[in-house]
Amino acid sequence: MDKQLQKEVDRRRCFGIISHPDAGKTTLTEKLLLFGGAIQLAGAVKARKAERHATSDWMAIERERGISVTTSVMKFNYRDFEVNLLDTPGHQDFSEDTYRVLTAVDSALMVIDSAKGVEPQTEKLMEVCRMRNTPIITFVNKLDREGLEPLDILAEIEDKLQIECTPLSWPIGMGKRFKGVYNLYRKELHLFTPGKETRHQQGIVITDLSDSQLDALLGSQADKLREDVELLEGAANPLETAHYLKGNQSPVFFGSALNNFGVRELLDAFVEMAPAPGARKTVSREVSPYEEAFSGFVFKIQANMDPAHRDRIAFLRICSGKFTRGMKVMHHRIGKEIAISNATIFMAQDRANVEEAYAGDIIGIHNHGTIKIGDTFTEKEPLKFTGIPNFAPEHFRRVVLKNPLKLKQLQKGLTQLAEEGAVQFFRPIVGRDYILGAVGILQFDVTMARLKAEYGVEAIYEPAPFAAARWVSCKDKKKLEEFEKKNQGNLAHDAEGHLAYLAPNEWRLGFIMEDFPDIEFRKTREHD
Ligand code: GDP
Repeated sequence: MDKQLQKEVDRRRCFGIISHPDAGKTTLTEKLLLFGGAIQLAGAVKARKAERHATSDWMAIERERGISVTTSVMKFNYRDFEVNLLDTPGHQDFSEDTYRVLTAVDSALMVIDSAKGVEPQTEKLMEVCRMRNTPIITFVNKLDREGLEPLDILAEIEDKLQIECTPLSWPIGMGKRFKGVYNLYRKELHLFTPGKETRHQQGIVITDLSDSQLDALLGSQADKLREDVELLEGAANPLETAHYLKGNQSPVFFGSALNNFGVRELLDAFVEMAPAPGARKTVSREVSPYEEAFSGFVFKIQANMDPAHRDRIAFLRICSGKFTRGMKVMHHRIGKEIAISNATIFMAQDRANVEEAYAGDIIGIHNHGTIKIGDTFTEKEPLKFTGIPNFAPEHFRRVVLKNPLKLKQLQKGLTQLAEEGAVQFFRPIVGRDYILGAVGILQFDVTMARLKAEYGVEAIYEPAPFAAARWVSCKDKKKLEEFEKKNQGNLAHDAEGHLAYLAPNEWRLGFIMEDFPDIEFRKTREHD
């Protein structure tokens, strides 16, 4: 094995942050980037968000609603590590995008608001992490405010998310009485000063909690800490790295992102514990990140990142080998060799041209409509990475053109937007309708705005009489034909030509599924 390649892979960390909106993901991201030296000033991430808002038109929707729609990639260095942070849209209406981003990471950081505990969006995202056994480190945020008791938070995580917790730090008080945290595995005390960023603070090493120094520092709260730690020693699960790596146990840290408190400990533990890029499954075999031949897959396509160019960027996760600028790779779906001359790497602050990149890195490739989500690129061997899903839409709309002469543009626009994963569209086998499907309804607003801005299509939505969709298939051709004949009015082809059953309601869906036991109804479909 190439030693240099191995070294490069091993020092890479690729992760995403999962949280419910408002738990503090943006704030934490910013602090992590500060440590990485990727940004100099607090406020830069938010400012960048604002700048993006100001210059793009369909993202006006973001601004209007005060949500973040897009996903970006931020790369920074910390100690000897190269860290790739994949940002995810927090709003649940864009969860499909978030789900796919999670297929590209090797681990995740979960942010929990200490006052709110486990919230619905966190539960959903956790389900996605579980599909791939993604290892998760937890950060309980906002300890500078009154919140739930730490033990109750742990119990709630274990209960609702079905993952064992192992606290690696422990808070001393909360809100006005928040004194700091005790790092349980380093046996260090970190004191909190309200309003002061404690970025460079050294911990005070206190190996024996009966040390009277603790009383001097914490006053009456020293005894409470002693009690808590004693309790934890008896009751908490010890850290077992193997369990963490399998996604069965989550190490937990406490702190306050806003005050930059507990963030460095979190980052240190993260780079040390989180897995380097691992092997990835393809249809034919597993690909090791240490293989010398380059391979990667596209998990996201983003349009309008730079409104001045109206460009479209395909985000590719490298799975093996070394990428060098200008290298030629096979684009297997279309059977063509292409030269990637202008790949972009996303530094936190700016875009930069990539000279070389390795497994665990994300590169951006300019795309003129030939790249789809799920596409695999390799040096030679035809491979197809698996596990990049489409999710069955839960909301539907019928698109009605204002100007029927724009049908071609509508078709083109919808095909491309579907390839990007922005929305799904269906053509019922009976009639001429265009039915859009989405996991979250805001996707419809974005689609309409983009149809107008990018394809010059003016259209309106009308309600569509569907509430659920399933992709259908059957090994027995005859049985499928029979099913098709009897359900014509509810069958449609998606943008890639796959047959789907559109149900008016869940009850009807259940009924049909019982009626046709040989037909397979799927909630997710992998990209071709
Ligand atoms: P996101 O929606 O998860 O990205 O959350 P943000 O990072 O935008 O934070 C949501 C709100 O919580 C903002 O007003 C933050 O200033 C605030 N916030 C974030 N971290 C903390 C914290 O540690 N303490 C307190 N008191 N507020 C915080």
